[in-house]
Amino acid sequence: MHVNGTFGASRYHIAELELFRGVDTPAIAAELAGCAVVRVAKGEAVEDGLRARLYIVLSGELGVEAPATMGEGGVEHVLPGESVGEQSVLDDAANLASMVALEDSELLVIEPELVWQLIERHHGVARNLLRLLSFRIRAANALLRRRQKLGEFYRQMSFNDALTGLYNRAWLNDMLPKLVARASQDGAPLSLVMIDLDHFKRFNDTHGHIAGDGALVAAAGAVRAALRPTDFAVRYGGEELAAILPDTPRALAIMVAERLCARMRDAVVFDDMRQPLPHITGSFGVATLAAGQDERALVEAADAALYRAKEAGRDRIAV
Ligand code: GH3
Ligand code: MG
Ligand code: MG
Repeated sequence: MHVNGTFGASRYHIAELELFRGVDTPAIAAELAGCAVVRVAKGEAVEDGLRARLYIVLSGELGVEAPATMGEGGVEHVLPGESVGEQSVLDDAANLASMVALEDSELLVIEPELVWQLIERHHGVARNLLRLLSFRIRAANALLRRRQKLGEFYRQMSFNDALTGLYNRAWLNDMLPKLVARASQDGAPLSLVMIDLDHFKRFNDTHGHIAGDGALVAAAGAVRAALRPTDFAVRYGGEELAAILPDTPRALAIMVAERLCARMRDAVVFDDMRQPLPHITGSFGVATLAAGQDERALVEAADAALYRAKEAGRDRIAV
């Protein structure tokens, strides 16, 4: 980047610069005559030395990456006639944006003192500057909103299982302690049903893993459809699911588990007229939160019940 004369001696016209649109051109030209014009080669950074200055692109193209958008590839392109750095001049803060010439470029450099003088002497400049800043604020707000939505999306995604759409283990680890704590505090019953699909390895071996995935989706759908809106269906891992039943005492939880077991048996895994309908069954372990129990003890109790359901022959529930 090197100084290449003054604006007064250059071939550029005021009327082509956004900031001076509709203002008294000869007067402005006189004030800008002594401003430096710098030349920046393609790929070269505009070394601002962290000083607040206003740059107007006269020719070429600048890529500006504000610190707020860094890492997101959010490079703003500044084209001839457009400016950069107004904001840092106005609030007298260092210009932290990184600026790189995307083409061989010439830039008009306006020192902050002169920017202020122009604002004071020419209403048109002040008006143009306000309009420009307003655009920038709008764009920044839009970016923030987009990022907020994206953050929410990823947060949701990190709590849901990609295959079945059920809550995942991370969600369970986060939420079960809270649900247990709330139930203990309120003295409300809370039940947990641990579910393990029966002979699922055999299902995969017989029908293939793709069909196995389909069976998992069907099983998850059966569980979800059989629960109340206040219950939670979770994929604990592999072919293991869980249902959390708030405000549900033991007797009711047993009924729910029986219903889940029946729905699982009836679930349509895939329709293929050429083959006997494959079906899936599950084993269900039911536990209800006892006084003084924490979430670990609750899961262990449900697991122990599940083990007994397996031992007793599968496709059934145990408490
Ligand atoms: P059991 O009745 O004793 O539970 O027998 P099982 O075969 O279901 O139990 P095991 O733990 O031996 O096997 C679990 C199987 O579940 C093995 C594994 O390949 C399968 N599995 C786990 N996750 C997935 C998955 O995401 N997709 C598919 N297709 N299979 C899975
Ligand atoms: Mg298992
Ligand atoms: Mg299994």
